[in-house]
Amino acid sequence: MLEVVDRQYCLQGVPLPEIAREFGTPTYVYDADTIVGQVDNIKKAFGGLKLRIKYAAKALTNLSILRLIRQAGAELDCVSIQEVHLGLRAGFEASEIMYTPNCVAFSEIQEAVKLGVMINIDNLSILEQFGNTYGNSVPCCIRLNPHIMAGGHTKISTGHIDSKFGISILQMRHLLRIVETTHLRVIGLHVHSGSDFLNADVFLKGAELVFEAAENFDQLEFLDFGSGFKVAYKEGDVVTNIDELGQKMSKAFQAFCEEYGRELEIWFEPGKYLVSEAGFLLVHANVVKTTPATVFVGVDSGMNHLIRPMMYDAYHGIFNASNLNSTERIYTVVGNICETDTLGADRKMNEVREGDILALRNAGAYGFSMSSNYNSRFRPAEVLVYQGKAHLIRRRETMEDLLQTQVEIEL
Ligand SMILES: *Cc1c(COP(=O)(O)O)cnc(C)c1O
Repeated sequence: MLEVVDRQYCLQGVPLPEIAREFGTPTYVYDADTIVGQVDNIKKAFGGLKLRIKYAAKALTNLSILRLIRQAGAELDCVSIQEVHLGLRAGFEASEIMYTPNCVAFSEIQEAVKLGVMINIDNLSILEQFGNTYGNSVPCCIRLNPHIMAGGHTKISTGHIDSKFGISILQMRHLLRIVETTHLRVIGLHVHSGSDFLNADVFLKGAELVFEAAENFDQLEFLDFGSGFKVAYKEGDVVTNIDELGQKMSKAFQAFCEEYGRELEIWFEPGKYLVSEAGFLLVHANVVKTTPATVFVGVDSGMNHLIRPMMYDAYHGIFNASNLNSTERIYTVVGNICETDTLGADRKMNEVREGDILALRNAGAYGFSMSSNYNSRFRPAEVLVYQGKAHLIRRRETMEDLLQTQVEIEL
């Protein structure tokens, strides 16, 4: 957890400016304790059930983070065959990995079957090919779309009627016909209606539809409720009350299992919830620039490293890690990319001097994993604070990395 010790912002006693000095900027830094604590919160909230936590790898795929999460007792949900390979490389067993692809070629699904991971099927055409190819020899999971609207930005909502995700619950009869005629062994049903569910009751409404659908399948071993766990981005944000959700869901789930006649496993796929708050992006204040309207702080990072503000209008808290207890002023923090790349507008923080280290909050999820080399800049280094020590877990890129995949021809 972030704490102020001796007038310095620290993670496990390690001051953030020290990390910036040692590893340079921009650098993503993650607090291992926070990640493990979040896994534990979910375990506690669903204590009475046969629970499996499938960390949504796409939020942050660094191998050391994957290993940490496995140690904490979670498994993995992957959305690309490359993530599956990373998961295996990090030490997950194939049996611990669920593969939830969307719009991939059947050949990629065959590759995943060969690797031994569970396939989560998200459209009828693939379902049919899967059934024709494997019959009942390979069990699978089916991703349903119950058309429940999650909260949050439209770009991260996946449950609406126009969404490309999942098999519409309205197509159940067609789905069942394919399952019956190809003798598919469906052992799981899955829903993930997008990030940032507002409350437990919306979650439960989605669950009821899954329970209803489940009555059509008699070989189920688990129900997977995806994610949507919401974390705070700023003070006063409504967040998922995990204990309340745990209580309400556990009751509903147990009642369902009784009716179904068997105790099933309950699965969740949190991404953001496990890693968002654990991460900070440390940047260097290059320029303080006063215009007639605004005081800008230009930093050595931008939308190439953290695209969420520009892409989703996401709010990331920003603080000055170098100048605590000084006067607070209002700044607009911008990146160094040649395009408007505002990281935070009109933010109050301790006075910024050129050379200060600023930190952006909630940078653990969809930060590094969505970063790019736009403007031909290097992607940041990554550091994990683990057992009171800062460890480099990805070095900063170099010019050689940028050139590595280019093929130069004679012109
Ligand atoms: C992205 C994703 C998640 C994780 O969502 P968060 O909001 O980060 O918790 C879970 N399941 C699936 C299938 C996803 O695509």
